[in-house]
Amino acid sequence: MRHWFNALLTLLFPVLTTGFFALIWGLTVGLSALCVWLFIALWSERQKLSLFDSWLNSPTKDTVPTLNPGWNRVFKSFIKIQKNQRLSESELNRALDRFEQAVRALPDGVILLNNSHQIEWCNTKAEEYFQLTFTRDQGVQIDYLLRQPSFRTFMHNPDPEISLNLRLPRMGIDRLVAIQMIPFGNEQSLLLARDITEREQLEVTRRDFVANISHELRTPLTVIQGFLETFEDNPADDPELLTRGVKLMSDQSHRMNRLITDLLALSRLETSESPEEEVINMFRLIQSISAEAKALSTKNHIVDVQAANDLNILGSEEEIRSALSNLVSNAVRYSPNGGTISIKWTLVDNEPVFSCQDQGVGIPPEHLSRLTERFYRVDKSRSQETGGTGLGLAIVKHIVNRHNAKLKITSEPNKGSQFSIQFSKDAIVSQ
Ligand code: ADP
Repeated sequence: MRHWFNALLTLLFPVLTTGFFALIWGLTVGLSALCVWLFIALWSERQKLSLFDSWLNSPTKDTVPTLNPGWNRVFKSFIKIQKNQRLSESELNRALDRFEQAVRALPDGVILLNNSHQIEWCNTKAEEYFQLTFTRDQGVQIDYLLRQPSFRTFMHNPDPEISLNLRLPRMGIDRLVAIQMIPFGNEQSLLLARDITEREQLEVTRRDFVANISHELRTPLTVIQGFLETFEDNPADDPELLTRGVKLMSDQSHRMNRLITDLLALSRLETSESPEEEVINMFRLIQSISAEAKALSTKNHIVDVQAANDLNILGSEEEIRSALSNLVSNAVRYSPNGGTISIKWTLVDNEPVFSCQDQGVGIPPEHLSRLTERFYRVDKSRSQETGGTGLGLAIVKHIVNRHNAKLKITSEPNKGSQFSIQFSKDAIVSQ
């Protein structure tokens, strides 16, 4: 209301003054006075405008010049607009920061490319995958850094549904990275990269495993099938062949049975939770295992046992029995007749250790690190001749891991091997 009153006064003043001058000195003098007044008013407003203009160079509240109420309102409104703008600007910056932090923390590599495929932004994972440094490589064309021809073709025909697998060296290792290009905005694109090395390795292991099982089963099946076909064509013509055939078929079916039993044991160990712990009377268990070893050896080896009879541990008796008997039966199977097999159960540096030493064929050093892989054998024919499945040590390794123990192998070709399982002292059951 006050603004309107002030505006009305400002307008009434020149009108009344012009009228007053015109009445006393005539219309010419009145209009001249109005012109003078208008000139002065315009000049004064121009001065205020230039003050406003120079204030705009550093528009702060403290430097607002004191002018008339109209101009004061202009300054006030401007300061208010400026304050709101600053607020929304800092909110926008905060949101942008949060977004950038989130993208940085992504487990995948992200690169923002402009319409010329130049790097506009990238996160830390992308720097790691493609060995780039954002501050150095910003603005560099991506195909300058990724020079594989397959990437160039892929980059020029982006399809978000399709990904390209690229091998990239990272930390000295070849990593397999799946790349996707997602177009957005003004011909920009988002390059996403995911490390799929582990997934690929798992797939290779799975394929190898299936191939190995098929191969292991094919041999006994071929033998059985061959004899069955022979007997089908000449039923019981040759009693000697029949006896030999039945014996071989029986051996092969036992082999398949052992293989399937070991595979099931391995799969149980890989998929089941940690076993329920119980107190294992190790002395009794070792006596029973050495008796089995003697039976397997059919008195061809000397089995020497030295077991502490008051050293019991916590664990799964079924699993520990399986691990120890695998080691002891290997010692028998890979030792020539007459060799001594020494089984020990004792404390070494306060930790319970089971060891099985033989004087057998031994293992060349280059094989030692791979012995616990599934189906890994040093001498395949010896393993098969003695009824091996190639899974024994893989089973042992799993059981050892499940009991937080360590498997140690030392061996010398033609001299013998020692397999030992070192349990933690926490596994000991105090008497
Ligand atoms: P296998 O059923 O073939 O014995 P394992 O997994 O038990 O399978 O053992 C893997 C391989 O390790 C064996 O094929 C054999 O070559 C080697 N090996 C295991 N134990 C011994 C040992 N005591 N002496 C010599 N070689 C051994």
